[in-house]
Amino acid sequence: MLSDLTLKTAVTEIPLVGPSKAQLLEKLGITTIKDLLFHIPFKYRDTSNIIPITKLKKEREGTIIATVERIENVYTRFSKVITRAKVIDESSTINILWFNQPYLTKALKQGNTYIFEGKLSKKTNDLVSPAYELFSGDLSTQSHIGKITPFYNETAGISSKWLRGRITFLKKEISNLLKVDLQSSVLEEEHLLSLAQAIMQIHFPTDFDQINNARTRLAFDEMLKVGFKTETNVAVLKNRSSIEIKSIPKYIEIFNSTLPYELTQDQRKAINDIQNDMEKEKPMYRLLNGDVGSGKTVVAASCMYSAYQAGFSSIIMAPTTILATQHQQTLKELLKPLKINVELCASGTKLKHSSKPQIIVGTHALLHNKEEIHNLGLLIVDEQHRFGVKQREQLTFNRSDGKFPHFLMMSATPIPHTLINIFFGDMDVSFIKEMPANRIPIQSHFVPFNKRDDCYEWIKQKLIDTKEQAFIVFPLVEESEKAQAKAATAEYEKLKNGLFKNLRVGLLHGQLKIKEKNETLKSFKAQKYNVLVATSVIEVGIDVPEATVMVIEDAQRFGLAQLHQLRGRVGRGDKQSYCFVLAGEEAEEAASERLTYFAKHPSGFDVAEFDLKKRGPGEVYGVKQSGIPTFKVASINDIELLIKARNQAKRLIGIGYNLDDISKQLFQ
Ligand code: ADP
Ligand code: MG
Repeated sequence: MLSDLTLKTAVTEIPLVGPSKAQLLEKLGITTIKDLLFHIPFKYRDTSNIIPITKLKKEREGTIIATVERIENVYTRFSKVITRAKVIDESSTINILWFNQPYLTKALKQGNTYIFEGKLSKKTNDLVSPAYELFSGDLSTQSHIGKITPFYNETAGISSKWLRGRITFLKKEISNLLKVDLQSSVLEEEHLLSLAQAIMQIHFPTDFDQINNARTRLAFDEMLKVGFKTETNVAVLKNRSSIEIKSIPKYIEIFNSTLPYELTQDQRKAINDIQNDMEKEKPMYRLLNGDVGSGKTVVAASCMYSAYQAGFSSIIMAPTTILATQHQQTLKELLKPLKINVELCASGTKLKHSSKPQIIVGTHALLHNKEEIHNLGLLIVDEQHRFGVKQREQLTFNRSDGKFPHFLMMSATPIPHTLINIFFGDMDVSFIKEMPANRIPIQSHFVPFNKRDDCYEWIKQKLIDTKEQAFIVFPLVEESEKAQAKAATAEYEKLKNGLFKNLRVGLLHGQLKIKEKNETLKSFKAQKYNVLVATSVIEVGIDVPEATVMVIEDAQRFGLAQLHQLRGRVGRGDKQSYCFVLAGEEAEEAASERLTYFAKHPSGFDVAEFDLKKRGPGEVYGVKQSGIPTFKVASINDIELLIKARNQAKRLIGIGYNLDDISKQLFQ
């Protein structure tokens, strides 16, 4: 029966996988044979070093192969059951104890030989509750013990042991199932295993080199796929043509002269870069990367104004209505002295059509309202990673002449340069590393759990005395906005009626209607509240100059990137600002170290470095935030492999392959 298997066969065709197990497997994303084979272990345990019982007695833990001489259940006074066995190998004998598993006298038979792995009890010197498996006579055929054992992501009802058993049913089929593979030239050049070998070794390794080689092959596949996407993008972009937007120096001067402040050097350099790009007939493809509060909006405004004066419309896209509304207000203010209006197109509003150039702020609602915009020259996308995946792909606006507008991405996430090159193709980058001169550095403090009350007391005094404003932010507790909203609401009630009863407290969370959200935010900006209790909906971009205190609850649950974004919500005015990162009760040593480092380092670029060095499992600062794909096996830090994969992608595209061809041949 098993010989009819294909990769697409349902898991229920595997022996001992019934409908209920299949349902559980679905939770792990496993419905087919392929899914099961590509369910990659996240760790291994090595119990392959078999020792004699005499040595086990000395070392007090390890793996033995021994024969059961005697096995029986003993009932204690408190009706507990102890299963007692005596086992023997060539060197000696030892007693084994298990508790409350009376069925073991049926599972383990006198005279049979098993592999046992475990520790000796300190009190009795017996081997206690060891793992066991019937010894087949040949170690290489064992499934669980006496070898390097893989551990998998599990779910209730599906253990690693069970998964190992099911995957073992497929062991003989692997080479048949995975015949289609990458070009042998690629495998040879990069010294990679075949896909079948890699999958075999990832589930049934005989040593750690096998695991490493298998992981390299699988990682390469993931990276090759990304390489294909990037290279295809680059090729498409390089073939596009755009319109030349000649900036007129006079207008740049005029714009600058209306600003209430001097632009920083980095801002001026960025404006210059962008305007040079827009003068070319190839579309601009540029990232403006500047820390939160570094002043990217005014850079955008300057370029939109230049385009406008040259007769072109421009669009700036924001991921949320709150942000879009705020951009509209900011741009309106900046362009008011120049007598230019700013249109908004968010959900519920329709864009007014015009036969003149426009400056438009939109959310994804604008994507559904995509009729021709008059002579579109510049498309800016703020915080692109916060758009949905689908929306991200739609973020292009065609012109009727078939040309493409110039494209600028803005991001507050400091992305290491190497990664930009690899994941965004040949995207150009302008950095704003310098903060506006009038900025007073934010004082950040790490607050351990036992200092929490002091912190809140301090804030209360501060707010009562000065009338400044504070944010209190709660993390996503569960993967549900509803639960998060509930937690924030509870805390809001508690503060409002307790410690902060003499202050005015507002509440903002993702479950409110857009109108309510906007009103709350407006009231906060207008200083109708001293305190805004919020969920992480406020993460990006909200500008409240009078807010000087940012409190982040359960800060250990946030990534450093997010913490840094949140910190950027204060310190926007001319007063000293504070950011308190509060550790929850559950926070561990490593979390404290991370949060302490964060509190000591004001620059997002420093925080990024730290995360890149101290990368937790699969988590590099800014990666999730930047739209860079997350990998199952590959590590984003393996730059060398990334470059190899990118080059192979380039070569394969050059000889006529596309992503569809190649996807069939890859892991994933
Ligand atoms: P971000 O880069 O996070 O989008 P914003 O564009 O919102 O930052 O700017 C943050 C604040 O800094 C705004 O209130 C803006 O008016 C102010 N700002 C921008 N550039 C300067 C500057 N050169 N000098 C002083 N303030 C500035
Ligand atoms: Mg911004």
